[in-house]
Amino acid sequence: MKHTIAIDLGGTIIKIGLLKNGQLIDRTQLMAISASGLSLQLPDLAKRIDSILFTNQLTSKDLSGIGVSFAGLVDSSSNKILSTNQKYDDGPSTDLVGWAFKKWGCPLFLENDARMALLGEWQYGAGKTCNDLLMVTIGTGIGSAVLINGQLLKGKHFQAGNLGGHFTVNHYGTTCTCGNIGCVEAEASTWRLPFLIKENPGFNNSSLSSETVLDFNALFQNAANNDQLAKNILEHCLSAWSAGIISMIHAFDPEMVILGGGIMKSAAVILPVLREKINQRAWTPWGKVKLVTAAYPDSAALYGADYLVNQELQARN
Ligand SMILES: [Zn+2]
Repeated sequence: MKHTIAIDLGGTIIKIGLLKNGQLIDRTQLMAISASGLSLQLPDLAKRIDSILFTNQLTSKDLSGIGVSFAGLVDSSSNKILSTNQKYDDGPSTDLVGWAFKKWGCPLFLENDARMALLGEWQYGAGKTCNDLLMVTIGTGIGSAVLINGQLLKGKHFQAGNLGGHFTVNHYGTTCTCGNIGCVEAEASTWRLPFLIKENPGFNNSSLSSETVLDFNALFQNAANNDQLAKNILEHCLSAWSAGIISMIHAFDPEMVILGGGIMKSAAVILPVLREKINQRAWTPWGKVKLVTAAYPDSAALYGADYLVNQELQARN
């Protein structure tokens, strides 16, 4: 079996992995300038791929394919980017398949980043024993993906299961970047958090007002130090996340929910509260949905890309 290159095109970091048969052999990363588009980043990306191949004494002949995780809607049948939301907005007009073939003579397969992470967790991580999974990634935005009976849910327009972060949890809420109102991610995500904090009348009396960066790290720390505003906003976020996840459970009927993203560093605070709210409110007469953290919060999409490339190549033969 040959090697694969996995690329995870995130909003702030692009991760690149060299894999073989489910093993992550080497990895590197570069800063993403996602607001400036995708095509601008391709030369740097190509250099990093060449360099990781060179370091491992490999050439393009050793590559079976490239798997790319993309933070947007993706047509995984024709390997095209369909729609973006303020990240890599030239994606739909960028020919990644042609780029890979020209540079390394190998095929490239594309999938949405949440679906790719789900594939990685399903094959190698927290979802190994389960064929009915919901993956929710809480970060800059909120991503989701669904596996039903061992099949990725895609839908007619490749968006089924991907828009869990845009389930409405507050119909009086603020307008989201997607155009909808009161989405989970418009209520509680990294991009929304600084507004939530600063717009609160209690901000000036809160210890949060002396923080230089208003991210979830700061929120968790200040809440742990008993700051009332931090505690209130944390409760608001936990409430929005659980409402979103309960709707996703009602929509997709998973046996297990895998939570990923940077905030899961605080899993010890988050998981017990979410479990309690979900167990109380979700309509699952068959039993309780398992709520777990991702086994590979940082690299599930790289493992997933390796699996996807091998699956697609097998299907072609
Ligand atoms: Zn939205």
